[in-house]
Amino acid sequence: MNISIINSPFMVFRRYMFYLTSQKWDREKIESYQDEQLIKIVQHSAKNVPYYRSLFKEIGFDPDTFRGRVDMHRIPLLDKETLRTRQDEFIAENAQEYGINWDSTSGSTGTPLNLIMDNSTKAYKLAGVIRSYQWAGYSLGKKTFSIQSYTFKNSDSISKHYRFFNLWRFDAKKLKKDSALEVIQMINDIKPKIFIGYPFSIFMLTQFAKEEGLSINPFDSIVTAGETLSERRRELLEAAYGCKVFDFFSLHENVSIITECEHQTRHIFEDFAYNEIVDEYGKDASEQGIGELVGTGFYNYAMPLIRYKIGDTVVLDNENHTCKCGRKFKIVKEITGRQNDYLETPDGRFIGNVLEHSVDKANGVMLSQCVQDAVDHIYVNIIADETFNDDSIKAFEKGLRQRLGDEIKFDFKVVSQLERNKSGKTPFIISKIGHEYL
Ligand SMILES: [Zn+2]
Repeated sequence: MNISIINSPFMVFRRYMFYLTSQKWDREKIESYQDEQLIKIVQHSAKNVPYYRSLFKEIGFDPDTFRGRVDMHRIPLLDKETLRTRQDEFIAENAQEYGINWDSTSGSTGTPLNLIMDNSTKAYKLAGVIRSYQWAGYSLGKKTFSIQSYTFKNSDSISKHYRFFNLWRFDAKKLKKDSALEVIQMINDIKPKIFIGYPFSIFMLTQFAKEEGLSINPFDSIVTAGETLSERRRELLEAAYGCKVFDFFSLHENVSIITECEHQTRHIFEDFAYNEIVDEYGKDASEQGIGELVGTGFYNYAMPLIRYKIGDTVVLDNENHTCKCGRKFKIVKEITGRQNDYLETPDGRFIGNVLEHSVDKANGVMLSQCVQDAVDHIYVNIIADETFNDDSIKAFEKGLRQRLGDEIKFDFKVVSQLERNKSGKTPFIISKIGHEYL
């Protein structure tokens, strides 16, 4: 979602036209397309991707006998740890042919990961993003305001206007009280119709507006991304902005997009990736209807990921309801797993999941976690591997400084276990100071 506006509009347009057709497919057509794409990517991986070549040999898997969805269980699940430690082996030897765009991420686990998104995937993803915004009421040229984590060429600027798309982008990392008032002013002047961004940032604006007795110009719709949209937060946002809020889910690994249609029903983009759910033993959990989301992307030939364990828990609609929108894509009732805490900086900014990118360049960090115990103090818990050293800490600290500023003190601790929050999870951010905004 948070991808740069690319320079090959034709590639995007073609895929967008495809998506307009494929969203009308019946189940039979969806499933035969999935089988076709799975066979292609599995056979390509067997031939050109070192990791899969040796894995398939090791387990005695013959790609020529692979028939698609029914045979997926023959390929082992891929976990984040394996991808992180063996990233290079996932790059196809002929990756160059497909175009190499590096994309760094640390996801919600605080683990650095360098991924390649090839040209075709980039175009499919952007076309998919456009289709999903359209489900939420967007059309090309409609004034759009987006608040997410951006890096602008001029590092001092807090926002940027893209005239062609009628799009304004604001860097969520720079959200604090005075810049929030500036954003509210901008929104009231520009009067955008669509608001896209982190639910936390969008919510913060309403809090600042309330404190100052300001009103925010109404939107037609809001699309939230980057963290789980809880029903409570959806209700708060819908009440504050007087419009519908749509949830958008995707990830850098490009193995799943789940997004809401006009009727606020979450649909799996089954024409972008093949998604399964598994139980804690890795067995198919589709009958139970709840399990961990697993994804296989169809288009990323430069760095294919097959049966990748995403980490989020998904509840499927197992009663086979058909959505009023008429689309036959599978329905997801709930996605849980990306509910983030936030930190507060001494200069009054609130930093949520944008902090995750701080760890992108820290080698040897397997898992990490930032715990704030005072307004000017954070300690960082790190689970390290053997490549971890002083430079890893320096890179991590630099990443944190860029986002949190110079006034805050850090302590880095190598630990064997991360801390758990009240709900028993080990999130990247834990705040032990006040929470007036959650
Ligand atoms: Zn629908």
